[in-house]
Amino acid sequence: MNQEKNKPGNLVQIPKLFYADITGAPMDKCISCECNLLDGNVPYMIEKALKPYDGLRSYSTIFEYAMCMDCMTGYQSKISSQSMQSINEYFASHIDIEGRKKLITNESYTDLAPWVNRCVVKNLEAEDLAECQIYGQCVGDQLVMGDYPYMLSGVAMDEVVELLSPETLDEFGRLQEELIGPSEFQDLLKGGPKVFI
Ligand SMILES: [Zn+2]
Repeated sequence: MNQEKNKPGNLVQIPKLFYADITGAPMDKCISCECNLLDGNVPYMIEKALKPYDGLRSYSTIFEYAMCMDCMTGYQSKISSQSMQSINEYFASHIDIEGRKKLITNESYTDLAPWVNRCVVKNLEAEDLAECQIYGQCVGDQLVMGDYPYMLSGVAMDEVVELLSPETLDEFGRLQEELIGPSEFQDLLKGGPKVFI
């Protein structure tokens, strides 16, 4: 059987935007357990924080990582239930649900731009933003088009941070220190957005 032929239509080769900018290649390891992501069937998430210069055509990277779903679930369980509820309510009432549905109904899977060029909450364009974060869900070397990918503006990110309990913010701080540690990203991170969603 031809694997490519049976591939669901909403899987696309991971676009360069979701590559590790530090290596110029696809991210290959979970930042936490270091499992191999590219030749496995392990679902994983990619998050990158960017400063766009020309929309997302040109940007500098504040931080970037991939994390397998097992680790992601482990970390999410440390978020206080109050914070989790606030985050869920915020997204449920702010996300452009119709716009996202349209992307799926139209099967707009080959062009990444409509998925990430505007903040999914604020509808602001990447080229008008000082900072934003992009999120993608992947399996092996494929990006899964559906709930993800999306982009969150710094403005929306600030609103999300406001919703978090002090316990959750402490947890994120510890997580960041544990995972990223002393690296070239650390100074930037200190002033940057501090949310892993
Ligand atoms: Zn992992």
